[in-house]
Amino acid sequence: MADPIHPQSLHRRALLGAGLLTLLPRPLRAEAPAASDGLAEVLAPGARVETLYEGGRWCEGPVWVKRLGGLVVSDVRSNRMLLVTESGTRTFREPSANANGNALDGEGRLITCEHRNRRVVREEPDGRLTVLAESFEGQPLNSPNDVVVARDGAVWFTDPTYGIDNPEEGITRSSEQRARFVFRLDPGGRLDAVADGFVQPNGLAFSPDGRVLYVGESSGSQNPGGRSEIRAFDVGDGGRLTRERVFSTVVDGVPDGLRIDAQGRVFAGTGSGARVWRPDGTPLGTIPTPGPCANIAFGGPDGRRLFLCAGPSVLAVNLKVRGAGFS
Ligand code: MG
Repeated sequence: MADPIHPQSLHRRALLGAGLLTLLPRPLRAEAPAASDGLAEVLAPGARVETLYEGGRWCEGPVWVKRLGGLVVSDVRSNRMLLVTESGTRTFREPSANANGNALDGEGRLITCEHRNRRVVREEPDGRLTVLAESFEGQPLNSPNDVVVARDGAVWFTDPTYGIDNPEEGITRSSEQRARFVFRLDPGGRLDAVADGFVQPNGLAFSPDGRVLYVGESSGSQNPGGRSEIRAFDVGDGGRLTRERVFSTVVDGVPDGLRIDAQGRVFAGTGSGARVWRPDGTPLGTIPTPGPCANIAFGGPDGRRLFLCAGPSVLAVNLKVRGAGFS
């Protein structure tokens, strides 16, 4: 098995080999300056993109977990999850069933999409996993990809086929669903398909008032004729979606994870970094990453730090704006 923490560090490799170290210091260096055009609206003055961790295979699904003082990240292709802090990184869950997207519910419980088991689970305070969703209309889900929890406690998730198409990210199978749905699991346990017009739905996020849902369509990643765009919906009573429209197309790669700041700006992981738009769709620029940026998350003590998952790396940059829901 490859060095699970930091392949570049002989010192750390030796410590790991001796079984002495579970929490490792992070690489102390800053990457290239963050772009400064329209992004001055969101970046802290002098902000630089810093590397917190670079020993993964394919990092996704970041979520800030205050009680753990760090960021839970899914290293999808390594079949494990990590806890990344400002002072080091350790394994959080292994095996992880090729986990991908993560979110917290209103009680701070971690909700996770599992490619390999084709389900969405919740971690209880005692560490047990409760299955929230694993089938629809009597058939297994495809491979839940990303998840968000609404104000009313409903769990919304996307169900594309990446985790059953790609043996590095799950187990190869044929889909048994008639579409790649966006699902809503209401607090009572009822699972509804709330959108069926996607080829590969991916990240999803709510506006700060919960009245708009953004969903990424990432089918352009597999098919030259596919779409690469973020769609928006109005959210009505009971989670009914109306007024579907294209919020923005993405020309550089595809939109993967989505996050919203406190003023409603939309942040998306794309082919070259985190792309940012105002709520009216005005693009502000891209916070650059080395290689594609899959997913992003707000965090830190006050929600003004943006974490970026970019291939093997987890990066961070300071913002002057907060993520929605942080205070
Ligand atoms: Mg995704």
